[in-house]
Amino acid sequence: MLNLILFGPPGAGKGTQSENIIAKYKLIHLSTGDLLRSEIQAGSELGLKAKTLMDQGILVPDEVVIGMIDNKLKEHRNAAGFIFDGFPRTVKQSEALDQLLASYNESISVMIALVVDDNELLARLLNRGKTSGRPDDQNEELISKRIQEYNSKTKPVADYYQEQGKFVAIDGIGEIDFIFEEINKAISKVTVK
Ligand code: ADP
Repeated sequence: MLNLILFGPPGAGKGTQSENIIAKYKLIHLSTGDLLRSEIQAGSELGLKAKTLMDQGILVPDEVVIGMIDNKLKEHRNAAGFIFDGFPRTVKQSEALDQLLASYNESISVMIALVVDDNELLARLLNRGKTSGRPDDQNEELISKRIQEYNSKTKPVADYYQEQGKFVAIDGIGEIDFIFEEINKAISKVTVK
């Protein structure tokens, strides 16, 4: 299996590049943000709880997202691989993901990080907010809070995979196709079991 983590702050372009990667490599896309928004839409208890936190730009509890990922891995036993988008977002989530994959005799192949500076992120998210309908894209304070959450809780996840020799950083500013080419180069260096 080819198991990729697409990593980067809110607005780095993970959603856009995920679409390119899925089309080419036929991976199952697991975006915890999308999964949580589906729960909210469905009006589930989990969704109601998550919404309060998401509307403040705060991460939802690790157990919640780990449980969702566990369910999805079970659903797609025969997949060619997975692309994890917006997950893991804390070191605890990384450890849980490694354990879950190990239980299937699988592991993360590579983490690809899209690097974009904070000013560009803010501009992109405010722009996305005009059309996305996402409440968390609507105001500057909330966006800053999400970037802060990223810097304090999520950045250490990069070190976690760096220590395993699985981390590749790619400049996330530039042409979408060019960035995708760089991603392809990183994937071509991965050995898949
Ligand atoms: P973005 O990366 O653009 O901020 P996402 O759609 O990935 O957006 O996530 C939106 C919100 O959902 C986050 O701000 C957070 O509250 C919650 N969320 C998504 N994924 C996770 C996760 N792995 N752990 C905790 N909270 C999460």
